[in-house]
Amino acid sequence: MRLAVYRAFVDTGRAPSPGELAHTLGYPVAEVTRLLAELHAARHLVLARDGRDVVMAHPFSAVPLGFAVMGAGTLWWGGCAWDSFAVPHLLPDEDEVLVATTCPACSTAHAWLVGTAAPPPGDQLAHFLVPAAQMWDDVVHTCGNQRLFCDEGCIAAWLDRTGSTRGYVMDLATLWRLASGWYEGRLERGYVRREPTAARAYLAGVGLHGPFWGL
Ligand SMILES: [Zn+2]
Ligand SMILES: [Zn+2]
Repeated sequence: MRLAVYRAFVDTGRAPSPGELAHTLGYPVAEVTRLLAELHAARHLVLARDGRDVVMAHPFSAVPLGFAVMGAGTLWWGGCAWDSFAVPHLLPDEDEVLVATTCPACSTAHAWLVGTAAPPPGDQLAHFLVPAAQMWDDVVHTCGNQRLFCDEGCIAAWLDRTGSTRGYVMDLATLWRLASGWYEGRLERGYVRREPTAARAYLAGVGLHGPFWGL
């Protein structure tokens, strides 16, 4: 079931409906709904509030969260900055994708060719509003607030305008390293989510320490 959801996202750029999954897998719709709820509870994907439709299977999203990711033959809603930068690393057939967004503060358009060999050039900064330890409290809100800004001035202006507290800021190279291996294995059978200790080790390995995790 998990792989069928991912396969549909990879191939079509959108989430499969429960009816489509029932057809693909030959299961009754009630069984599809039950399995999707199980995957949601285990944080393998995110269901809409109605508990029926798939909203996200990271790094893919069925709803716009500020990013578009264009591959050779497929167009995806990138989830957040982290998710959008992860897409080429996850898909062997997409060496390089075009990631496009606008600065939340000043609406300047930004686009990068993101590949697997090296971080894209650019001075823009990623700002993650929600501390990692609370990311799953409302993961759609979290991803919707992991954006890319022109510079520190735009981050400050946006925080002021929205009355938000500054979160974690990183440059493009760090964001790219963070995204490079985070979703590894999700397109394979038997994928197991990282334990918190392994997640912390991964984050430290790409240069993100205590403050990112909300410590
Ligand atoms: Zn995200
Ligand atoms: Zn800006």
